[in-house]
Amino acid sequence: MSHTTDIAIIGGGVIGLSIARSLALRGAGDITLIERGPLGAESSSAAAGMLAPQAEADSSDEFFQLLCHSRDLYSTFAAALLSETGTDIELDTTGTLYLAFTEHDEDEIGQRYEWQTQAGLSVEQLTSADARLLEPSINADVRAALRFPLDIQVENRRLVSALADAVNDLGVKLLTETEVHSVTVDRGRVTGLQTSRGSMSCERVVLAAGCWTGKLTIETLKTIDVEPVRGQMICFATKPQLFRHVIYSPRGYLVPRRDGRLLAGSTSESAGYAKHVTAGGVSKILENAHEISPSMAGLPFIDSWAGLRPRAADGLPVMGACDEIEGLFYATGHYRNGILLTPITGELMADVIVNRVTSPLLRSFSPNRFNLVTS
Ligand SMILES: Cc1cc2nc3c(=O)[nH]c(=O)nc-3n(C[C@H](O)[C@H](O)[C@H](O)COP(=O)(O)OP(=O)(O)OC[C@H]3O[C@@H](n4cnc5c(N)ncnc54)[C@H](O)[C@@H]3O)c2cc1C
Repeated sequence: MSHTTDIAIIGGGVIGLSIARSLALRGAGDITLIERGPLGAESSSAAAGMLAPQAEADSSDEFFQLLCHSRDLYSTFAAALLSETGTDIELDTTGTLYLAFTEHDEDEIGQRYEWQTQAGLSVEQLTSADARLLEPSINADVRAALRFPLDIQVENRRLVSALADAVNDLGVKLLTETEVHSVTVDRGRVTGLQTSRGSMSCERVVLAAGCWTGKLTIETLKTIDVEPVRGQMICFATKPQLFRHVIYSPRGYLVPRRDGRLLAGSTSESAGYAKHVTAGGVSKILENAHEISPSMAGLPFIDSWAGLRPRAADGLPVMGACDEIEGLFYATGHYRNGILLTPITGELMADVIVNRVTSPLLRSFSPNRFNLVTS
């Protein structure tokens, strides 16, 4: 292979795909997306699809603002994907319930309610009876709850498929089963890529390789470490559905899907790149799911999987242009919120790459906060 392209995107998860779509919609030139395996088969397919910045937030900071902005783009984003591809990404706007089972949980949600109401955010305080009226299958031991009407969910596997169709229709070249080994640089500018199928010339490269970003060799530059944080999930069949809302406790969550599946998650483990489901992980998820609803015990168990969340050293996303190398851009480290951040990442990264404009929303997430210079 010996190709030339204007912009090469490394990684075909939701982040790489969303950036490819936004660039193509702006007519940014010849775009090639390179994916080592099939599109979206890693973290992007393993996720639960919750778009829930408020449910776990204890204060407002720039990260929280970014999450809320992205969540609020979702209804327009879903409608655009439907019209571009005919795929419904099943944006479910029922909302999220956060349950308290202990005194400690009650204190936690009490404080969350206080700061969020003072900040003018949408949040409802529920008694145990209110919560059970809304969701009769939750545990009768629930002491209190919060309802977040704007924290919603999406079917992330349908999101992957809609984005893949959209970029394909927009003329993005999709090179799957192709691994990028290194980015080549000459006199401080990107010149191309070395891949498992040969070399490619390009002047701009976007690193969207999730928790493998740090494994890419970039001449003259230190890598940004993005560690894999394993999350296991279990899936049950429910017909009719037991729940309408996404339901959290401080220890776990349940996500009802439109087709009757009910997802239960998750774990948060440092296990390197091992993606297997473990007996310990399943047992912990079941215990937490059972606390939310003892009715879980009788449900048919139909599937389980694990994925690797991409986490940068400070836990925050890494998005923007690299100051050291002209033509190099990062979009990685989305950790627990990559599905939620998909629409805004596409838009803001396209602003950076095409217009050289960095939104104030990205100020805290620049790759240049890490020391990239080799000594
Ligand atoms: C169990 C679990 C639950 C989650 N739940 C949620 C949730 O409810 N809400 C939410 O917002 N987020 C959630 N997440 C997080 C979310 O899934 C991730 O943040 C998001 O998928 C990251 O997308 P990505 O495109 O950066 O990474 P990935 O989907 O991992 O994609 C990166 C891609 O890069 C490719 N790649 C890597 N190296 C190379 C190379 N050298 N050459 C070519 N290709 C390469 C990989 O094969 C991969 O396909 C969850 C994650 C897990 C695991």
